[in-house]
Amino acid sequence: MANKNIPIKFTKIFINNKFLDAVSGKTFPTINPTNGKKITDVAEGDKADVDEAVAAASAAFRRGSPWRTMDASARGQLIHKLATLLERDVKYLANLESLDNGKTYTNSLGDIMYSAGLLKYYAGWADKIHGHTCPSDGPVLTLTRKEPVGVVGQVVPWNYPVLMLAMKWGPALAAGCTMVLKPAEQTPLTALCIASLAKEAGFPAGVVNVVPGYGPTAGAAIANHPQINKVAFTGSTEVGRIIAEAAAKSNLKRVSLELGGKSPLVVFSDADLDLAVGVAHEALFVNHGQICTAGSRTFVQDDIYDSFVRKAVERASARTVGDPFASGVQQGPQVDEDMFNKVLGLIESGKAEGAKLECGGERLGSEGYFIKPTVFSGVTDDMRIAREEIFGPVQSIIRFKTLEEVIERANNTRYGLAAGIITNDIDKAMAFALSVQAGSVWINGYNMIVPQAPFGGFKESGTGRELGEDSLKEYLEVKTITIKLPEKF
Ligand code: NAP
Ligand code: MG
Repeated sequence: MANKNIPIKFTKIFINNKFLDAVSGKTFPTINPTNGKKITDVAEGDKADVDEAVAAASAAFRRGSPWRTMDASARGQLIHKLATLLERDVKYLANLESLDNGKTYTNSLGDIMYSAGLLKYYAGWADKIHGHTCPSDGPVLTLTRKEPVGVVGQVVPWNYPVLMLAMKWGPALAAGCTMVLKPAEQTPLTALCIASLAKEAGFPAGVVNVVPGYGPTAGAAIANHPQINKVAFTGSTEVGRIIAEAAAKSNLKRVSLELGGKSPLVVFSDADLDLAVGVAHEALFVNHGQICTAGSRTFVQDDIYDSFVRKAVERASARTVGDPFASGVQQGPQVDEDMFNKVLGLIESGKAEGAKLECGGERLGSEGYFIKPTVFSGVTDDMRIAREEIFGPVQSIIRFKTLEEVIERANNTRYGLAAGIITNDIDKAMAFALSVQAGSVWINGYNMIVPQAPFGGFKESGTGRELGEDSLKEYLEVKTITIKLPEKF
C-alpha cells in the first residue's frame, strides 16, 4: 500500500557491512519534493569516508579473501538472493523512493521490480564469463581469462535511484568486483536500504559500500581515487567530462559514462495517429520528463502536424499531476528546487524565442516542485528547448517534410543516446534506424529498454555500454596466459 508515513531506517554511511557516521560528523538534509520539507538528515560522506570505503573494498578484493575465493556460481546465488530481497521489500522501498524522489508510487514499484529482474539477469551471468583458447603460432598453448577489474566506484543520479544502482551493481558483482557507490544527494535513502539487504543476502563485508554525500566532495574523491580501478557514472555530460578528466589525471581508471540526451522521436503521416500521439506523450512525460532518453524532440510530418499537436495537447492537459502517493496520479513533483527552476527557465526561453505555448508552462499549486505538463508547437531547431536537455515535462513538437531531411536534423545534436520512429513503412523505419546516430533506436514504440540488450550513448551521450553482455566487459580485464610446450601438437 502507498504510505508516506513509513519509518526511515537507514541514514548512515555503509562500509564493511556496518552503518557509520561520517568521519567529519556532518549530515545533510534530504528533502521531500512534494512540499520542500526535510524528510531526515543523512550522514554526509566526503573524501575521508570514501577513503575508508575504498580501503574496505580493496581488502574485500584481496587475493584469498572470501569474495575472491567464492565459486562464481555462489556469487550468482548471492546476486539472485539480493534480487529476491528487493522483491520481498518492494512496497517499503517504493514508498521510500516516492517520498525522497517524488515519483509516483506505481512508478517506484515498477522501477524496483525491473531492478530485481535486472539483478537476476546478471546473477545468471556470474558463472558464464568465459575466456578463450587461442590457436597461437609456435609450440605454445594460449588461453585468456576474464578477471574482475577490481574496486569499482559508482556515481549515480536521482532520476532512477534504484535502477541506476542495479544497472551498476549487477554486472560489477557478476564480474567479481567490489564497489563504492555514491547515490545522488537528492535521493540517498533507497541505496542505503538496499545496502542493508546486501548484508542480509550474505555478501562478505567490504564487497558493497555506499557513501552518500555531494558530487564535488564524495563524488570527486571517487573519480580521483588512486585505488579505484574503474568508475561508472550516470548524469550530466558536464559532470561526465569532469569524471573522465579526473580518471585520466589520477590513475587512468577505466571509465564508463551514461550521459544526457536530446533524443528525436520521428512521426510519419502514415502512422496510426492516436498510437503515435500516445507513444510520443509517454516518451517525453514518463518520470516527469526526468529521463535521459526522453523523446524531447518530437518531429512530426507536415501533413499531420496540426492534428498531432491538437491531440498531443489534449493528452498532456489530461495528465493528472499531484501527490505521488495518490492513486491515479501520473506525475509528481520535479526532484528539487534547482531542477524546478531550470525547467521553468527553459519554458520561458521557449516563449521568448517564439515557440507557441499550447498548454501548461507554469507551476502547479504553491507548495512543492510541481510543473504542469507543457507542450510547445512551432519549435525550430535553433531554439534552446530543441537543443538543451530540459529534464522536465515539456514536449517540443517540430515540423518536418521528408525522410532525408529528418535524418539530417535528428543527427544535428551533440548527443546520441536514443531515437524513435513511428511509421508503417518498413523501408523508412530501417533507413532511419541505420542512419541515426544513437545508441538505441526504437521502432513503433519508445523506451523499450531490456536487461538483456546493451544501452548507452553515441557522441557526447557517453562511452561504454550498460545492460546486456556488453556491460560485463566494462568490469573485466582480459588476461592472456601462454604456456611453452616442448613441441607443436
Ligand atoms: P549531475 O550533476 O551530473 O549529477 C549526477 C551525479 O554526479 C550525482 O551523484 C552528483 O552529485 C555527482 N556529481 C556532481 N558533481 C560531481 C563532481 N564534480 N565529481 C563527481 N561527481 C559529481 O546531474 P544533476 O545535477 O543531478 O542534474 C543536472 C542535469 O544532468 C539534469 O538537468 C539533466 O540534464 C542531467 N541528468 C542526466 C541524467 C541521466 O540519466 N543521463 C540523470 C540526471 C541528470 P550530487 O548528488 O551532489 O549532485
Ligand atoms: Mg547536481
